[in-house]
Amino acid sequence: MRRMLLLGGVTEALAIARTLGPQHIYSLAGVGRVPTDLTCQVRVGGYGGAEGLTQFIREEGIDLLLDATHPYAAQISQNAVTAAQLSGIPCWALRRPAWQPQVGDDWRDVRDWPELIEALKPFHRPLFTLGREPLQHLHEIPPEQFWTLRALDVYPGNERCEVIGARGPFLIEDERELFERRQIDVLISKNSGSTATEPKLEVARERGVPVIVLQRPVLPGVDREFRSVTEVLNVLHVSDDS
Ligand code: NAP
Repeated sequence: MRRMLLLGGVTEALAIARTLGPQHIYSLAGVGRVPTDLTCQVRVGGYGGAEGLTQFIREEGIDLLLDATHPYAAQISQNAVTAAQLSGIPCWALRRPAWQPQVGDDWRDVRDWPELIEALKPFHRPLFTLGREPLQHLHEIPPEQFWTLRALDVYPGNERCEVIGARGPFLIEDERELFERRQIDVLISKNSGSTATEPKLEVARERGVPVIVLQRPVLPGVDREFRSVTEVLNVLHVSDDS
């Protein structure tokens, strides 16, 4: 591997980027923080779909694509596979293992927003931890519900919804305080598999609060799949001196 394009957006991707030399490129969508202390190059912003990404790969002489994006970022993962195929280079991916329910958990899987709204009907005080998507539905909140919505940044809520802006990692004592203060009776979460956001699941378990889990999207097959940063680094730095 001479030049890698690393698609990031999660903690693990940054950990990999920190080990890369100046010939490699770390690519971010531009929704979160952009690190300024890396040795590798940092590129911010989309490519204009799989075609744009293919063009970038060719122009920059990329010979390996590593998709280390969030497990729910299905579009960029599909674009990565398509662009790698069109460019004739391998596409590898770091795919975080999903969380598994434990004894005492009451998890209810939903596929999409309509199923989620149906599953929410018995509850009154949901805590949404899905990012920004629920903001589009604030006008649909039924009168018997009061929502708490946590996203990366603060957005305007309304009389039936409070929006909290916060970035992980979250501490268990803070999550306990949040559930208590807001009297949360159901948690809505993606199955991100991230240790940074896992404490909310522990608190739901402690309090007997059900969790509505938005199912993971199906991601395309890749040439090589890794489950941890260590696995990736072991393979990358055997054949690379960066
Ligand atoms: P998405 O739907 O799969 O991607 C939407 C578009 O954003 C892509 O088509 C691409 O634009 C651009 N993009 C995404 N990741 C990029 C990257 N690493 N470098 C350059 N462009 C990128 O993704 P999303 O769910 O909106 O998430 C956006 C970013 O936030 C991802 O990088 C993801 O890792 C991160 N993130 C997502 C979540 C989540 O829950 N979805 C949570 C935490 C972090 P073009 O088509 O123009 O190339």
